[in-house]
Amino acid sequence: MRIPFIAGNWKMNLSVAESVEFLSAISGKLPVADQSQTAIAASPLFLQTMLEHNDDSPLIIAAENCFYEDEGAYTGETSPKALHEMGITHVILGHSERRKYFNETDDIINKKVHAVFRNQMIPIICCDETMGRRESSERISWVVSQVTAALKGISIEDARNAIIAYEPSWAIGSGQTASSEEAEEGCYLIRQTIADIYSDEVANEVRVLYGGSVNDDNANEILSQNDIDGVLAGGASLKPESFLKLANFQQ
Ligand code: 13P
Repeated sequence: MRIPFIAGNWKMNLSVAESVEFLSAISGKLPVADQSQTAIAASPLFLQTMLEHNDDSPLIIAAENCFYEDEGAYTGETSPKALHEMGITHVILGHSERRKYFNETDDIINKKVHAVFRNQMIPIICCDETMGRRESSERISWVVSQVTAALKGISIEDARNAIIAYEPSWAIGSGQTASSEEAEEGCYLIRQTIADIYSDEVANEVRVLYGGSVNDDNANEILSQNDIDGVLAGGASLKPESFLKLANFQQ
């Protein structure tokens, strides 16, 4: 059985002080981790403070990105080794905003996936789909090629721990959610791709999330789909009340 994974991606929002207020507002109100895992990915500037204020909470504090080398002359980059040493366990990689604004290619994302596994963390690999491609026959091949490229050279043992998010960029921050059928179609496609690369067994273990204008009104329907194991929410994760509603969805 795949444990649901409900994650928030704060992007470049909030402040260190607000992150602490958020943690205290949700304290004691999250599901226990063997029922459903919950995570918030935040700026590297907040992570140490958030870890210190997250004491007994089941909430996973995640990073939004990292570099693919462990250390060296890479001014301004975040080391995956340092993230692991500070206690971070999950890292979002390949978000469409990284692909679009920071020119991250499939090759770069693949190197980052290797770096995250090498440092005993779990990548949450995002797979994009643009409106133009959604309406064309390229749709399937593009989703498949991003997943295939991200997992190139990743062992079967690591692959079964990966988390993959289907995040069509036309649905991100637009208020235009994919219908639950469209979201299921994208997540199913990702699972089939894992089955083709590895095996049905691995595909049945990998958790696949949907992201794009998820909120407490649409989350339950999205989460009721067969191949959707969780959500990656942006805007709806910024306020404790709305994050708690997502985190405590009806299974
Ligand atoms: P929104 O939920 O704000 O559309 O953002 C989704 C997202 O990009 C999560 O990674």
